[in-house]
Amino acid sequence: MEEPAAAPTTWSEFQTASWLRARREGIPLSGTFELTPLCNFRCRMCYVRVDALPEGTRLRTVEEWLDLARQAAERGMYSVTLTGGEPLTHPEFAKIYRGLNEMGLLISVLSNGSLINDDVVALFQELPPTNLRITLYGASDKTYERLCGVRDGFDRVIASLRTLANARVPFSLAFTRTRLNEKDEDAVRRIAQTLGVPLGVTSDLVPAVRGAASDAQELRIPRSERLDGIDLDDACDTPVQAVPSPASLPPEVLEGPFSNCSAYRTAFFVSWDGLMEGCSLMSSMRLKTFEVGFDAAWEGLLSKLGNIRTPERCLSCDLAPYCTACPGRRDAETGDPEGIPETRCREARALRERLSELEAAANVEVN
Ligand code: SF4
Ligand code: SF4
Repeated sequence: MEEPAAAPTTWSEFQTASWLRARREGIPLSGTFELTPLCNFRCRMCYVRVDALPEGTRLRTVEEWLDLARQAAERGMYSVTLTGGEPLTHPEFAKIYRGLNEMGLLISVLSNGSLINDDVVALFQELPPTNLRITLYGASDKTYERLCGVRDGFDRVIASLRTLANARVPFSLAFTRTRLNEKDEDAVRRIAQTLGVPLGVTSDLVPAVRGAASDAQELRIPRSERLDGIDLDDACDTPVQAVPSPASLPPEVLEGPFSNCSAYRTAFFVSWDGLMEGCSLMSSMRLKTFEVGFDAAWEGLLSKLGNIRTPERCLSCDLAPYCTACPGRRDAETGDPEGIPETRCREARALRERLSELEAAANVEVN
């Protein structure tokens, strides 16, 4: 007879056990709602922003988002992330936020930080978000102008950060490293230190999805060029709760196309126009959530994701240990979650070469 699993004794063991159960049973613990593809910034590497809504489309209303959240919560969702575009540009952001709060959900907000006015601060003071993550794109107005296409972006965001800090609203910072702002990184790190808030750094830019346009490939810095200062590069940006460390996971979870994916079978993403995907990088699942209802969309997603296979070429690829391809990134870069993203193949090769050069140099020094 199989030994019963030991009961968790710490919060982290409990989180891992809940996540594993959710993954086994297909329980949507967390959801991401992309409230809008619109944004007051025009960042050159952004993979979702559009200038205007396509003709004949509209943003979803507060009632629609809250109804969807209610249905998802009935299936197990306890945490929701609001993103965009810039979520604060949604005309009903405050109502959506309040409604989700009344449902008892943990709420994260991903924002560029430039639209945090007195009303928003008062809202977050009254009902603090679980995680308010503000991306700092640089450390000067010049960088913001070059990268984000706005004049006084840095001044505005810094003012918001000060206001939030004074109002004791907790927040964290993110930095997206690109060819146009990498020189600002040290200054951004100092800002985070001065404010006493955590900073996550990523340079994993992906090409535009869902009809947006971007210069991501041109601005992306390959990992072989930045072996120092890698924070989140190997992790994806999907904000899910309770991400266990691989060391605590059973082998079957670490196999297959979603082996590095903490969202698989436990999280979902709904685009501004109501299409459910496995994560924000995907655009091939296209399940019409508002039309068919949450349950049918979620079941459809589980089934579509379950049919995804690792491409044959990758199964026997000796670059695999250096490669960051996953179904989401394959989908964003090739339009197919089983595609081969050649850019990542080139980067994996360059990374392997760089690491062997460093190893050879270290051996020479030792000898
Ligand atoms: S599929 Fe890839 S990008 Fe998407 S959540 Fe999983 S690991 Fe992240
Ligand atoms: S380097 Fe290319 S072929 Fe190799 S595992 Fe990555 S995506 Fe597949």
